Amino acid sequence: MQSKITIAIQRKGRLYENSKNLLIKSGINFSANGERLLARSSNMDIDILLVRDDDIPSLVSKGVADLGIVGENVLAEQAATNNKITAKPLLKLGFSKCKLAFAKPLNSKLRSLKNKKIATSYPALVKKYLKKNSITAEVIKINGSVELTPYIGIADCICDLVSSGATLEANNLVEFNSLMDSEAVLISPVTLNKIRQNNIVSLIKRFEGVINAAESKYVMLNAHSHSTEMICKLLPGADSPTIIPLQKDNKVAIHALCKEPVFWETMEKLKSNGASSILVLPVEKILN
Ligand code: ATP
Ligand code: ZN
Repeated sequence: MQSKITIAIQRKGRLYENSKNLLIKSGINFSANGERLLARSSNMDIDILLVRDDDIPSLVSKGVADLGIVGENVLAEQAATNNKITAKPLLKLGFSKCKLAFAKPLNSKLRSLKNKKIATSYPALVKKYLKKNSITAEVIKINGSVELTPYIGIADCICDLVSSGATLEANNLVEFNSLMDSEAVLISPVTLNKIRQNNIVSLIKRFEGVINAAESKYVMLNAHSHSTEMICKLLPGADSPTIIPLQKDNKVAIHALCKEPVFWETMEKLKSNGASSILVLPVEKILN
């Protein structure tokens, strides 16, 4: 009976650092050095498989790994072509955010995708999009350097991952349509392994706690008791703030866990509504 949990993460690339940090912040100590495929946690009964991101959906679908971290784009592309890819997303992780978008050369007169040649590493998702929108076009599968294809006569436009847009700009390309938004997700097989189920669920709760904490802030401020209601309304994503009377001046201290970002604009609004000494503190872990 195997009680050890296996988690698959990308060995190197855009997902690696954040995936590793999520595991470490969740209390899993391990060191991934060199080209090793397997890292053993030194403090928990967990193995970490370090692989190419493209292998993660299938390792998890087969149950070789109990959990995996991969981009929604890769999971969606593989699931669209292979019915054995049954792994399901459990939790959005908030990193490696990007979108799959159509782009054309700056000087292109292209107005629609109809009868055009589209180069992409995501042929299944592009074909699905074309079908859904009743567009006939040719899809050309390219594994790397998709952005160069319009300049060597292979394609009229491309469909590729875009994050900051810097790669498009550097290649004189301009985005004209978006197909999907993507970010890293935690995935699991359709049914969790029965023997390890309880431990896997506890681990998922820890991941959730780290993700929620990253988005949350603890806010403390002082205010006049008559402005309490207004101030509480302005606190983003705060469930039930704590209100403590202060010794002087009919004032109160308000403490709240804000589950949405607290921007400078929000703080300025709080101040103009009578709040003072506004502190915004990071939250490390949350266990609900
Ligand atoms: P591997 O060697 O593991 O196969 P890769 O080269 O396929 O890696 P990376 O470039 O490391 O993949 O990207 C991994 C994931 O990071 C992408 O599938 C996507 O979800 C996300 N990502 C975020 N922004 C971008 C971007 N600008 N370009 C490419 N991928 C991005
Ligand atoms: Zn890959």
